[in-house]
Amino acid sequence: MPDPYSWVKKSLRTLHHADWYRSVQTIEGLPGPVVTMAGRALVNFASNDYLGLASDPHVAERAIAATRTYGTGATGSRLLSGHRPLHAELEQAIAHLKGTEAALVFSSGYLANIGTITALVNSRDLILADAYNHASLKNGASLSGATVIAYRHSDLAELANALLQHRAAYRRCLILTDGVFGMDGDVCLLPEILELAGRFEAMVMIDEAHSAGVLGKTGAGCAEHFGCTHWPMVQMGTLSKAFASLGGYVAGSGELIEFLRNRAPSWIYTTGLSPADAAAALAAIALLQHSPDRLAQLHANARYLTQQLDQLLSDLPPAQQATLKRLPSDSAIICLQVKDAATVLRLGQQLKDRGIFISAVRPPTVPISRLRMSVMATHTPAHIDQLIDALRVCLAEVD
Ligand SMILES: *Cc1c(COP(=O)(O)O)cnc(C)c1O
Repeated sequence: MPDPYSWVKKSLRTLHHADWYRSVQTIEGLPGPVVTMAGRALVNFASNDYLGLASDPHVAERAIAATRTYGTGATGSRLLSGHRPLHAELEQAIAHLKGTEAALVFSSGYLANIGTITALVNSRDLILADAYNHASLKNGASLSGATVIAYRHSDLAELANALLQHRAAYRRCLILTDGVFGMDGDVCLLPEILELAGRFEAMVMIDEAHSAGVLGKTGAGCAEHFGCTHWPMVQMGTLSKAFASLGGYVAGSGELIEFLRNRAPSWIYTTGLSPADAAAALAAIALLQHSPDRLAQLHANARYLTQQLDQLLSDLPPAQQATLKRLPSDSAIICLQVKDAATVLRLGQQLKDRGIFISAVRPPTVPISRLRMSVMATHTPAHIDQLIDALRVCLAEVD
């Protein structure tokens, strides 16, 4: 009998051969700057918990209290029986942080992106998207049925040209960009993008997953970083990174939010955020606003890591300097590009053997393999020194 599933085994073999195979790694106990894996303590540079709030006792206490008061699940979609006072409070807190009229909380950032994009545009419309955008923006764009044109990463001449050539042939136009690019660490050129969008009557949607709680004076994200908070735009973000919980949001004008509540399928047809997740995110946002030293410490740590890494790289022989490249970063994500997937996997393992947990990122996630380090506010200088010492030893063997 022919087996209709036999192709699965073949596909897996192909993934192994290309060094593209992925598997999970188990972390035991609490998250934080040091984590336990297979019984060993590792200094953690692979977390999105930028402010170190996912193990904060106060945040946990709020989640436990919400569970006692409201139960473990929202028990329904928000429009039917799943809306709680915590959801309204959280949406107000997000709008306040972002400086917008309103906000809407989704059950994940991924769902926020696909629901919002499919609500805003359809087959009569045009999407212009940065080539390095997150998978959820790309997925939302293709689900919407709009014509999608990708422009080269942060290439505004190409974006301007695409607007000039194609904008007039479509009803609406939506420009999609990550705020901080998650696998690179650089920041989008938001003021220039907004200016171009204004000239061509295009909407702008920015994904602040890696910038909210990280960039800007109060941690409001890229829009604040560039002083663009009051420009009309669609500001999306997640509650699962700096805000230590689960869920996503869109912040913008009252009308935009009202429209999404009526037209975003991934908000309408899914269960509301759990009370524990909503309460944890609320507590995290409150901590960001009431103890600004966390944000200052995050920035200081990112600066220190960058300086130490650049020093280490400048000490390497010229041949190595040619293949090892630190990518430009203005965020808590710092990447060291290496030659190929096999090298990055080997480095990841060697660093782990030396007590450092770091992401080895390969194609197809990125075009060129890299070590991706993410900094937390709760790292100490000693943690960063340990990373640099381990890198010095491991990089010596790389060609
Ligand atoms: C993590 C991430 C998302 C998805 O957010 P979740 O809340 O984890 O679903 C969306 N966009 C970007 C840029 C991200 O990094």
